[in-house]
Order: sequence, then C-alpha cells, then structure tokens
Amino acid sequence: MSDEIPAPLLELDDAHRQMAEIVHPVSGVVTVNLADALGHVMAETVIAPYALPPFDNTGVDGFAFHHSDCENGRLKLVGQSLAGEPLMATLPPGCAVHIATGAVLPSGADTVAMQEYARLEGNDVFIDPIPPQGANIRRAGFDIRQGETAITTAHRLRPQDIALLGALGLTSVKVVRPLRIGVLATGTELQEVGARLENGQIIDTNSLMLKQLLFGWPIDVTMLGILPDDRAATDAMLLKAAADCDLLISTGGVSVGRRDYIRDAVQALGKVHFWKLALRPGRPVMFGEIGGCLILGLPGNPVSVLVTFYLVGMPLLQALWGMTPSLPPAFKVPLAETVRKEKHLRSFPRARLEFRHSTWQAVPFHDQSSNLFTSLVRSDGMLDLPTGLTEITAGTQVSFRPFSSGHF
Ligand code: AMP
Ligand code: MG
Repeated sequence: MSDEIPAPLLELDDAHRQMAEIVHPVSGVVTVNLADALGHVMAETVIAPYALPPFDNTGVDGFAFHHSDCENGRLKLVGQSLAGEPLMATLPPGCAVHIATGAVLPSGADTVAMQEYARLEGNDVFIDPIPPQGANIRRAGFDIRQGETAITTAHRLRPQDIALLGALGLTSVKVVRPLRIGVLATGTELQEVGARLENGQIIDTNSLMLKQLLFGWPIDVTMLGILPDDRAATDAMLLKAAADCDLLISTGGVSVGRRDYIRDAVQALGKVHFWKLALRPGRPVMFGEIGGCLILGLPGNPVSVLVTFYLVGMPLLQALWGMTPSLPPAFKVPLAETVRKEKHLRSFPRARLEFRHSTWQAVPFHDQSSNLFTSLVRSDGMLDLPTGLTEITAGTQVSFRPFSSGHF
C-alpha cells in the first residue's frame, strides 16, 4: 500500500466543522397532522400542557387501601376502581377497593397490594404480606410534569415521540418544511435500471441506492437521471438543478479522471468549499454550492457512495435541519483479524459482526475494493480506524458503526 500524499487532504472532522459553519438551516415551517409526522424534524419545542400520568393510578391489578388502616392485613371490600371507571367516593378507613392497572387511585388510598398477595373471602380482603406504604402507585407527573419540555426543536420524530405528543393532547405539530434534494448520476457508461446493457455499460445503481437512503426523511427527492460525461451538459444540468433544489447530490465524475467534470463545473458556476478528504473509501468527496443550492459530489463507486453518504451526506442533512452534524453511533468490538491501512487516511473498512469465542467480533470483508456490492451486502457496518495507524492487530478494540437507514 502506497503512503504517498499527493495533496493536503481535509480531515473528516474538519469537513463537518466547515459544513456546520457554511450551512444555514432551512427556513420554512409547515404544520402536519401528528399521525403523519413520522420522520419529520420539529420546528417547535413542545411544553407539556398537563402532567403525565394525568392522575395518580396503579401499575398492578389488586386492592387499594390506606396503609395505616391495614395493621392486621384485614380490610372490608367496598367497591372498585377500573380503568376509565374511577370510584367517585373517598375510601373510608379500614376499607379497600378492587383496582385495575391504570385505574385512578381513589382518594383516601395510598397503597396498592397486588392481587397475587391478597385473598378475598366474601367481603373481607386479607393481604399478606402487606406491601410498604406507597407500593404500586404511579404518581401524577412522574413521567412528565406540566410545563416540562416534552420534545425540542430540531428533533426528528420517531414513533415513540409521536405517542408522547399524542398523550399530551396535540393533534398537529410544526415541522421543518421538506428539503428539495436532486439526485444525479454522472457517467456515459450508465443505463437506467432494467435496461439491456451493451458492451461497457452498467446500471446506474447509485441513484437507486441514494433514493433508498433518503427514504423516510422529510425530503422531496427529484431524480435527475443520468448525465453523460460532457462538460457542457454538466454545466447545464448543474444550473438547472441549482435553480430547483436546496441540495444536489451527484455521484461519479468528481475524481481526477480526464472526463470528471463535476468539480470544475461547480468551481466555474459557483464555489467549491472542499474537495478531497483524508478518507478511505471516499477520498474525492466534493462540497460546494451554486447560487444558494448546495452541491455534494460523492464518488462513483457504490461502496464509496454508501460510506460517504453516512460520513458526509447525513451530517450535511443534519446541518440543514438545524441539528449538530454527527456520525452514525459507534461501539467498540474486538477485531477478528489484523487489518492494514494507509497512515494518512481515516479508514472505514466494511465488516460483519460475528459471535466467536463467546464474544461479538468484527470480521472485516476480505476485499475492501470500493466497487464490490458484496462487501456492503455481506457486512453489518463499517469500522472506524483513525489516521496515524498502519496496522491494527487482531483482538484490538475498534470502533464499529452499524449501517442503518438514518442514524437517529
Ligand atoms: P467515476 O468516479 O465517475 O470514475 O466512477 C468510479 C466508478 O464508479 C466507475 O467504475 C463507474 O463506472 C462507477 N459508477 C459511477 N457512477 C455509478 C452509478 N451511478 N452506478 C453505478 N456505478 C457507478
Ligand atoms: Mg464517471
């Protein structure tokens, strides 16, 4: 492996810093029905209008009573409090009511005995053992207090977030308007999915994969198709996309090949913020803009596209949504095999997780060439190996970042 450094390469962390400085979060807020808000990014902070739970209740099926009246464990059954059908009266001393999970704790009661520790004989309830005072009670506001922040702005809504907002009585939320993103493939060799291929042609799989990677996010995706390697056509396409999109993501044509025109065209029509990162795979990544439209030029090989989408594309989207750019989460796993890497590059070899010798280990794919679909398909994620190292020996704990369909 050669360790030649042809030009200074930008570190990934510096690229994130630059993006955070350059990118302004999109303005524009829309209101969506709560039930349709999945994946959207909050444009407001929601304060709890009331507490959750809204009333004191119990977490078990059993008997509610007042602890100080229950010295000998014998109580008189006087009624019931069921979910949605609370007991309206105050519990008299020495008495108990049947209570169901989620039912309102009657006034006068302060403890609930589980059904399993109670015996009913006629109207007499015998409790053994007597639980401590306050047992099995879920206090009003214990989950969230009235006036407490429930969900903050710039948070991407997951199913559980929507459930919380619904519990708080909301029916709609203000979210960031969908981003307009154009996806463009460059390469004279490319054909649409399903085409009959002639000599030297291949299918444009990058557009297809990017469309999947963007799925589930608040994005209006425009598929711009395939651009041949032609400078005039490239300029025309970039100008047209820049007029319609917040962000254009292109693949291919961004390296140093004779017919790689993306970088030169962006430079001529707008501005290149950075080009070439200290990464493997994905070194040629370019970030620029034309007339207010951001341009992310990803490399052409499919492995590089997936990896750089996670490493640069996702953080860029986060910045556009007003979030802090971040990488997919990492956890440490021991390496199953020794790996070698270039010293000056931060490297992200694809690997699968395997349970070996009673522990999970990361097994790097045997060939890390960036054209191999199988290296992605047979892997669970990527290792994150720092610059400065050339060899990481088997058994070393390394960072592993799982592939996911969006990292929050
Ligand atoms: P490039 O950087 O344009 O030279 O592309 C690098 C490699 O990725 C070449 O082998 C291309 O054929 C391949 N490639 C480029 N674009 C795509 C695409 N959209 N789908 C699949 N492979 C591509
Ligand atoms: Mg090309």
